[in-house]
Amino acid sequence: MTLEGLEKTFGRGTRVVKGIDLHIEDGELVTLVGPSGCGKSTLLNLIAGLERPTGGHVRIDGRIVDALSPKERGVAMVFQSYALYPHLTVRKNIAFPLEIEGLTRAEIERRVAETAERLGIAALLDRKPKELSGGQRQRVALGRAIVRRPTLCLFDEPLSNLDAALRAQMRVEIKKLHESLKATFVYVTHDQAEAMTLSDRVVVLHEGVVAQEAPPREIYARPANLFVAKFLGAPR
Ligand code: ADP
Ligand code: MG
Repeated sequence: MTLEGLEKTFGRGTRVVKGIDLHIEDGELVTLVGPSGCGKSTLLNLIAGLERPTGGHVRIDGRIVDALSPKERGVAMVFQSYALYPHLTVRKNIAFPLEIEGLTRAEIERRVAETAERLGIAALLDRKPKELSGGQRQRVALGRAIVRRPTLCLFDEPLSNLDAALRAQMRVEIKKLHESLKATFVYVTHDQAEAMTLSDRVVVLHEGVVAQEAPPREIYARPANLFVAKFLGAPR
């Protein structure tokens, strides 16, 4: 996935993404960090196709996807709020994207079972969202995102509603999920422990530009500028 001079200006003058060039390798897990309002969600939405860029391009698998809808991009997105359908069972929630695609009943059953197994929620398939804990709900949301076997998954602070212990546990789950799916993950977080433990590479955003991109260790050891150093609270 490659961003080429990507820009987003809202309305008449709020320039939020200011010419971002970024290449993410297939299968990489990159975290996007930065202070609130620096443009992290906007950047994810541009990659997903939920927002249109006002300049530059998004390239997925070598192809410029600017004109494609989120579905056509084959991208999965997981948000902070679970956005599950409250009246549907876990099984139906996970199956939903496949039903839209028109897969056969047998194929849907097979994929839902495989996905639930992977996320440790096979025993919960007949429950409704309100009968689940926060962590279980987020697993279902993950299930619904990955059931179409996307090659690119985008996460917008998916764990920030969970308590610290659960967050630490889900972090491990997400890492395992990344390893077994072999998909590219772009993961927004404001939790530095999350960024540090999860990612192959950290991208620090500052007011719509990339302040630094490097593996976690390097970013902590050698922050590129004062902003990054202060943001990470790293010793200089
Ligand atoms: P982050 O996710 O890093 O907190 P966002 O991408 O949500 O930041 O927002 C970046 C900036 O863009 C903020 O100043 C926000 O107010 C502004 N913004 C986001 N969406 C819109 C929109 N639809 N219209 C106008 N301004 C927006
Ligand atoms: Mg955000």
